[in-house]
Amino acid sequence: MISLYEAQEFVLSKVERKRAIATPLDKALGLVTSGDVVSMVNIPPFDNTAVDGFAIDTESLEELARRGSVTLSVEGTIAAGDGKLREIPRGSTYRIMTGARTPEGTAAVVMVEDSIDLDGGAVELRGALSHGSNIRRKGSDVSTGDVVVPEGTVLNASHIGTLASIGLVRVPVYRRLRVGVLSTGDELKDGGESLEEGQIYDSNRHSLVAALSQSGVEVVDLGIIRDDADLIRDALSKAAKEFDAIATSGGVSVGDFDFTKAIVQELSQGNARWMQIAIRPAKPFAFGVLDGAAFFGLPGNPVSALVSFELLMKPALAKMAGKDRQLPKFVKARSVSGYKRSLDGKIHFIRGVVSFEDDEITALPLPKQSSHNLNEMSQSNCLIEVPDSEGFEAGDLVRVLVNSSVWI
Ligand code: AMP
Ligand code: MG
Repeated sequence: MISLYEAQEFVLSKVERKRAIATPLDKALGLVTSGDVVSMVNIPPFDNTAVDGFAIDTESLEELARRGSVTLSVEGTIAAGDGKLREIPRGSTYRIMTGARTPEGTAAVVMVEDSIDLDGGAVELRGALSHGSNIRRKGSDVSTGDVVVPEGTVLNASHIGTLASIGLVRVPVYRRLRVGVLSTGDELKDGGESLEEGQIYDSNRHSLVAALSQSGVEVVDLGIIRDDADLIRDALSKAAKEFDAIATSGGVSVGDFDFTKAIVQELSQGNARWMQIAIRPAKPFAFGVLDGAAFFGLPGNPVSALVSFELLMKPALAKMAGKDRQLPKFVKARSVSGYKRSLDGKIHFIRGVVSFEDDEITALPLPKQSSHNLNEMSQSNCLIEVPDSEGFEAGDLVRVLVNSSVWI
């Protein structure tokens, strides 16, 4: 057996970041920027009001401060989008709407809530304001020449919005990965088909397609392949030409019909490695590079397939996608119950539920911990790391890998 870290380092050493391209902004969510994005404009492009209200000059602002109110005649109304440059005549004010360009000489904007309309087109303004109150200055969000999004950023919704705010149409990123997924196993059927004795529905293909989609790659479902060496060889060599990465499940253990591991070895011209990793679940794993595509031979047991994805495939995809942060990050949590295990030379990753209490994170190990208990896994939101030991007691601190969807 090799350590998890050695397996991760091996996989990471064999994959490379993909090409940088300029992609349309609305296709860039989750991709990583391949260079700094510098703004050519100021945002806001002009001084404007943050509130609906009345634009006043320095003299009126001073009177307001001195007397607690000021009465002014209303010169007109300025709507958002009205670009005309105005000045405030002495003793006057403009009614002005949020986002509208402030007239020259505006010292502050009084909120409409602090105004009383008087007869004859006048208004009485109140409130405690200082110079610049309720004015959004030109360039106060972004100035020309600012790096708005640095290289290496994983683009989220607010990055996309920021890039849109500076008028960007295409963004420099590492291109989106394309990943093919297939299942191997004579026992597997698709939902909608009827099961004969001894058969089961294929769940791995679907859970892996889902996990890959959540990781921001483009996924293609390549179906079920029977436990037949020729069929597996054909499917893998074809997929290797088309995809950046391929995930299979099943056929990497020590059973009589576990062909995948040998075929990968053959197709990769010997660069592949079939590993026994000192973890539970997900001990068997195969990795190799076939025709430039990264091949991940994940185990067949449904919990193992997902754990293997999380600990081994996701870090490699992260590197290929240009992400700096590749290995999963764990946080400390206090376990609300004990967990017994025995020494076997492996780290166990058990399924649990983390909760975010007032002042700490707690973790609850779930009762069913076999690698076929996929339904139990679906009730969990974390993996709890249990080092090779006799387990832990209630109240102990444990390391947990929180399912990323919990943070969303
Ligand atoms: P294998 O690694 O091929 O020996 O499979 C290990 C276990 O996982 C067996 O019980 C298989 O029936 C099961 N298994 C393999 N592939 C899948 C799949 N795609 N969906 C659900 N269970 C599977
Ligand atoms: Mg099998």
